[in-house]
Amino acid sequence: MGYLGGFKVTIGKFFHSTETGKVLTREYLGGKGGPEDLKRDKPVRMHGRHVLNRYEDGMEKCIGCELCAGVCPARCIYVRGADNDPESPTSPGERFGFVYEINYLRCIHCDLCVEACPTEAITETKMFEFSFTDRADAIYTKDELLVDDDGMPQQLPWEDWRVGDDANTSAWMRATSPGGAAEFEGIVAWSAELGYGVRSPEGGQPLDAAQQIEAEAKAAEALAAAHGHGHDDHDDHGGGHH
Ligand code: SF4
Ligand code: SF4
Repeated sequence: MGYLGGFKVTIGKFFHSTETGKVLTREYLGGKGGPEDLKRDKPVRMHGRHVLNRYEDGMEKCIGCELCAGVCPARCIYVRGADNDPESPTSPGERFGFVYEINYLRCIHCDLCVEACPTEAITETKMFEFSFTDRADAIYTKDELLVDDDGMPQQLPWEDWRVGDDANTSAWMRATSPGGAAEFEGIVAWSAELGYGVRSPEGGQPLDAAQQIEAEAKAAEALAAAHGHGHDDHDDHGGGHH
């Protein structure tokens, strides 16, 4: 009978209700277009479906270096690089991502690929609800991952996009650059993107008034020091982490 103990929590939760008598579990009623849309707003740094970004001039950010594929623990990225046509380059520099695929049957949304990318080419949106009826649909190609001519993620027929799912698609990771140091809160640390320009800096943790003043002073000091060492602003094609 010992094995029945494993069901104790399950059975307990089945009949569980709060002091007000309300059951905490909320029924999923179909989402968008359903009788009732109960989806909640997603966290700012939600790891959803990836996008391949472009610079403001439309150039692709991916340089086909394969670092994302190398770091991926699920081995779900396939990249092939190719030389840019000097007359009509696809990306700044010598190479571009010629083939780019992500297999979402394997991806665990760890975002190590995002961290590894030197040009901020691959980032994640907050859209995570995509159901496939075909294995081929689960393998996203470069054409599907690349943002459109306005810099917006493409919305594929089997994806459930909500307002804000494309907001700050590349902002979350900047909290880890440079090194997650608190004094960089409030400082723009990523390059401009097609459709978005230079994004606002991430807000950081809520601070009281005194902490806010101290953080702003530290940020100004850090910015001055960085510029004093000959660092560029963060809105050029170099991108990446400074
Ligand atoms: S999020 Fe993680 S598992 Fe998914 S493609 Fe990137 S590195 Fe691989
Ligand atoms: S997405 Fe980034 S890491 Fe991956 S191949 Fe392109 S430039 Fe390299």
